[in-house]
Amino acid sequence: MSIYRSWTVVAIWLALAAAALAAPLKALIVDGQNGHNWRQTTPVLKSLLEKTGLFAVDVATSPPPGKDMSHFTPDFAAYNVVVLNYQGDNWPAATRKAFVDYVAHGGGVVVYHFAAAAFPKWKEYNRIIGTGGWGNRTETAGPYLVWRHGKVVKLTDPPGKAGFHGKMQRIEIVIRDATHPITRGLPPVLIQPKDELYCRLRGPAENVKVLATAFATKSNGGTDENEPIILTIKYGKGRVFATRLGHSGKETATPTSAVFLQRGAEWAATGKVTQRVPEGLGE
Ligand code: ZN
Repeated sequence: MSIYRSWTVVAIWLALAAAALAAPLKALIVDGQNGHNWRQTTPVLKSLLEKTGLFAVDVATSPPPGKDMSHFTPDFAAYNVVVLNYQGDNWPAATRKAFVDYVAHGGGVVVYHFAAAAFPKWKEYNRIIGTGGWGNRTETAGPYLVWRHGKVVKLTDPPGKAGFHGKMQRIEIVIRDATHPITRGLPPVLIQPKDELYCRLRGPAENVKVLATAFATKSNGGTDENEPIILTIKYGKGRVFATRLGHSGKETATPTSAVFLQRGAEWAATGKVTQRVPEGLGE
């Protein structure tokens, strides 16, 4: 091989290596309907993901409530992670099937805040998100999870509505599994200065891991239990990450919310977390 040809080979190899290094993970944020201000939160989510340098982010916005959904067919399979910022009308059957197939075959999902309230009647969605609330969900949705004496407990009593929260409050988030890629290296306690503390979400709760909890005092409309705040769910070959934080753009952008979102999204996309833990987290 001439020197000229070998240099060409090296140049091509370098170009391919550089492309592979620069090739970001593909993330899709789904929005368009939500009992929350999705127009405000989607740009925050997008910017947090982009700041990691790992993600190229697209957004799929559904038609507004009550409008024809039949052409809402995001190509989930083209992405490494789908970030759900959606709560609203049912998707068309083909879109629901494409989403379930995507997760079952190894796709990543982020269940962000009020996405836990979406699709109360869609069985597979509820298996994918593990536990959910609102949308007239009750004990028939399944058990709820709390953290007691060092482990997760599944409870059914008392019956009643699934999903509520007290007034916005300072939330002390306690890491319960520090060995998971998402939580490894994080301080043992992180503070969310102000947010809603979701309580008593119910669902099939299969293959759920609770990574972090917060104590919801009854005096603030809570349960006097350690409620799951950061969770993972395994569905088929798919990895699902759920965060209860982020009521509005402000709460989504806090360092505590951001670090979970960024690490959770990477883990959902790849099964690993390569991001360094930022300085100054924790109490
Ligand atoms: Zn909220």
